[in-house]
Amino acid sequence: MTALAQGAAWMEGRVIPIAEAKIGVTDWGLTHSDIAYDVVPVVEGGFFRLDDYLDRFMASIAAGRYEIAEERAQIRAALTEIIAASGLRDAYCAMVVARGTPRVPGSRDPRDCANHFYAWAVPYVHVIKPEVLETGASVWIGKAVRRIPRDSVNPLAKNYHWGDFTAGLFEAKDAGFETVLLCDHDGNVTEGPGFNAFAVKGDRVVTPDLGVLEGVTRRTALEMARALGMQTEERALPLEEFLEADEVFLSSSGGGVLPITRVDDRVFGNGRPGPVATRLNALYWDWTRRPDLRTEVDYRA
Ligand SMILES: *Cc1c(COP(=O)(O)O)cnc(C)c1O
Repeated sequence: MTALAQGAAWMEGRVIPIAEAKIGVTDWGLTHSDIAYDVVPVVEGGFFRLDDYLDRFMASIAAGRYEIAEERAQIRAALTEIIAASGLRDAYCAMVVARGTPRVPGSRDPRDCANHFYAWAVPYVHVIKPEVLETGASVWIGKAVRRIPRDSVNPLAKNYHWGDFTAGLFEAKDAGFETVLLCDHDGNVTEGPGFNAFAVKGDRVVTPDLGVLEGVTRRTALEMARALGMQTEERALPLEEFLEADEVFLSSSGGGVLPITRVDDRVFGNGRPGPVATRLNALYWDWTRRPDLRTEVDYRA
């Protein structure tokens, strides 16, 4: 075990232990949640779909008008460096661009901020623990809180605007549920803290198209469903339809395909993980071992 085994960060070109990685109190990343980020999973010593995560991160940087010195190749190298230095074989690997601190003290102009890139990695994070999934995971539908509208905060760029999710998580935890899923203002299901949502009816798999992050695991789940001969639909998913599905599941880089056995009062599959989600999750872990989708990490470097 090295000092970096708990996690490592890349800041200003240096690799440091995760506990020492900090940003300043005047950074808009902190004061305004003004951050674009992404998270790529590392599974058994290799990144899964690294280029897809990098594509999304580069698009988020452009959408948020962040300007940093590091280019894609240097970002990729920084991620590889922290994983190799940490020795972590299974990791949650985050890349972040923060607006930074105004170069002109007190400026309210976002163009004055010194944007900066950093990255950090910790041991793999499951958004729902595997033992909870096995016995049946429950999801609360947010009641007092709705997903931030997509014309207010761009959901296509992974971001730190978690006020809606955190309020929803309090509702869910207070009611004894594992996690929360938020609807939009039209009553359609959107997404939850770190995951996309799916409904299965017959041989059709439906997932919301608007007001959600286009999860890389969401894309993987759609590709896997099609590979199994199922029909896939990306469209508005009304809450009533979601609750009437045969089966529902979530997707996230923190765990793959996650079967859900209860949504509010509605119990699915007699409280047992559904066959489609169970099959897709097994296939997900198979696909993480596909050489064409992996980037191996050289830990000797
Ligand atoms: C990260 C995240 C997801 C899932 O995306 P993946 O690329 O599959 O990990 C979905 N919704 C939100 C809000 C997220 O932050």
